[in-house]
Formats: sequence, C-alpha cells, structure tokens
Amino acid sequence: MHGDNMYKLLRELFPFCRSITGGGVRETFKTIARQIPLEVTEIPSGTECFDWTVPPEWNARAATLTGPDGKLVADFAANNLHLLGYSEPVEGEFTLEELRPHLYSDPRRPDHIPYLTSYYKRRWGFCLRHRQLENLKAGVYKVKIDTTLAPGSLTMAECFVPGRTDKEIFFSCYTCHPSMANDSLSGVVLNVELCKHLLARGGDHHYSYRFLFVPETIGAIAYLHRNQQRVLDKTYAGMVLTCLGDPGDFHYKKTRQGDHQLDKIVENVLKHSGKPHELIDFFLPGSDERQYSSPGFDLAVGSLMRSVYGFELYHSSGDGLEFVTADALGGTFAMYADVITALEGNFRHRNLKPFCEPFLSKYGLYQTLGAQRDLDSQIKNILNVLNYSDGTRTLAEIAERTKLNLLELVEVAKILVDKGLLERSGEPD
Ligand code: ZN
Repeated sequence: MHGDNMYKLLRELFPFCRSITGGGVRETFKTIARQIPLEVTEIPSGTECFDWTVPPEWNARAATLTGPDGKLVADFAANNLHLLGYSEPVEGEFTLEELRPHLYSDPRRPDHIPYLTSYYKRRWGFCLRHRQLENLKAGVYKVKIDTTLAPGSLTMAECFVPGRTDKEIFFSCYTCHPSMANDSLSGVVLNVELCKHLLARGGDHHYSYRFLFVPETIGAIAYLHRNQQRVLDKTYAGMVLTCLGDPGDFHYKKTRQGDHQLDKIVENVLKHSGKPHELIDFFLPGSDERQYSSPGFDLAVGSLMRSVYGFELYHSSGDGLEFVTADALGGTFAMYADVITALEGNFRHRNLKPFCEPFLSKYGLYQTLGAQRDLDSQIKNILNVLNYSDGTRTLAEIAERTKLNLLELVEVAKILVDKGLLERSGEPD
C-alpha cells in the first residue's frame, strides 16, 4: 500500500521541470500539499546565506534544437533533461562547429541523456545521447531556448509534526532535480509517506518531526541560515533521503560522529531485518549532510539508501520511472518505519527490582510476548533488558552489546514498564 502510494505520487511529479528555483518546484509543492500540510517559504534572489547568494530564478518554457534537415534533434517538451539546467535564453542559427561547445553527452552511457546544470556560470546548451551526438551531420542548426533568468526566489517547504518533546528529528529530501526517479524523487515521495505516517499518530510520539523539502546544497544552506539557532538548539538527529526506490541492497551512510544513537539504531534494524546491506562510514562529497554536518552545525545526520548515488545510470535519463518500483519503495518505507519505532523507544531505563532477578512468572511474562519468536528468546530479551537497565545505557546500547534485536527490546521494555519492573530514567544523548 505505502509502495503504491509513493510510486503513484512519483509518477505524478516526474514530468515537472524542477531546478533549484522556479515554477517546477512550486508545482511540485502544490501537488504534495494535497497529501500533507506544507509550509512554503520563498527566499528572494540575492539573499546572502553564509558564504552563498541565492541565484536568480530560472524558468523554462520551451527549448528545441532543429537539424539541417528540419527534424527535431532535441526537444525539452519530450524530455526536460535535453535542456542544460539554468540555460540562458537563446534564439538563432549555428553551424555544427559553432554548436559543439553547447552540446553535452556522456560517452560512458551512450544511450542515455545526461543530467547537467550550470547554476552559477551563465551558459546555454543541450544534453544529448552520445550515440545521437556522434551522428550529427554538418550544416546549420536552429536553436530556440525560451527561458527566463531573473530576480525571483528560491522555494522550499516543510511540514512540522510536534511530539511530546520539542527535541527534533528531521528528514530532508531535495526537490531540485527534473525528471529523475531514484536520485531525488524517491526521497521526496518517501518524505511525504513518512510524514503521513507520523501525522496519523495524532501527536502520540516522543520526538517532534520535521520534514524538509529543499533544493540540494543552496536550499539546505538557505534553510540552515534562516533557522540557524533553532536547528542548533532543537535538533537531535536527521536523515537525508535519496536513492530509495531501486531494488538494490540497502546502504547506510553513517553520521559524521559515526557512533551516534542513530547509527546504532539503523545498524541494528538492518542487521535484524535479514536483508542484505552494507554500512559505510561518513564520506564527502555526498548530499545535504555536507551542510547539516558542517562543523558549525555538526548535526548527527545519516543516510539510509538503496543504491548509493553514483550508481550506473545516476544523473541520466536511465534513472527513469522504470528504474524504481513500488515494491522497493514499500520495502524502504518499512525499514524507515522500523527505524522510527526504534528511535521512539530508545531510552535509558532503571530496573526497579535490581536485587537478583524478579520471579518472572509472577508477572505473567511467559504469555505476553506474542510477536516474538520463541520463549527462549523472549526470556533472553527480558533478562538482558533488566540486567543492563541500570540507568546508564540506552536500549540501542544494550542491543549493540548483547547483539539482540532492538525492536524486540523496545517491545520488552514497554511491557516491563507496564508490569512495574522497569522505569524510564532518561533520554539518549
Ligand atoms: Zn543528483
């Protein structure tokens, strides 16, 4: 169900010509706002954000490249990747030799249109399949690029879902890629689905959650600049959502800290999911964790992906609707939902009967754990939670030390609290 919802939204958003600014981003937010309440913010062109300046707004209406035989070589209407992102407007006739510096292709992936942009240097150009570029005939070509580059604004959006505490966990996706399915859009649709998942709890959760939709780099920078103090004061952890819809194995890029509770949680959830996965230490470059985890902010931000960016068809027309599946999106949603469940249950506890083990059958603890595998593992979970809960360790730390399933420990701890054997004694650091 979640996978189908996400794939449907992804199909709807796919054709919009998104960029770091412009109408495609606003259209995207209008569509998303039919599913979740979105607070949209416009940052005017020219606004200084730390070391960066918000660029002019770019809008593309049409772009065509017509060959000497009068046939279309590239048409923005057929595929928006044909137009170099942020191309300035041009109209005229060019010989093939004059045109060549404005034509881009990728010989490594000759059958796909590459995705290229030029946000901060004024250029114009067309992106072509390399095979097509190689076969262009000499002659005069007609270029028509109908775009505007003018003062306007950068558009970003967020949805805040308050919990019992004002400590925040954020999920951030980027909304600046045009028709690309796995890179960028899979993160957008997962963000929407996770937001719906949290909203459905009606505030019954510990942390407050913030779902961010920002253009990559400049958007994250503008967001952090605008909300610097709150972000520093309130953020507990965050995740950058991208590359989540292909059927590849899971990859978790750890936080810059490397041993944050979030890292322990995701590692444990992945390990006990039985799904193939790989853990990767924090590295640069990457996506918006570069900004969130810059030393001034130093936020704990991880990224749980399927195929890591840089995959074979990355930044090309090969990353299309057929590259992602509803099944893979649904599987990713389930993994994130488990991470949220674990985050929500990851507290320190104190054993209220610390002198020797309690007499478990007195508390009816042999029958209550229906969801867990067998009596032996239930008892093992109970004994470990009781033993290690001396107020110093979180459940994630207990799970790490004992190699037990954190989601089961979270369930066990809730029951032990209900039975009066355990009390919650503190939040994780
Ligand atoms: Zn990208």
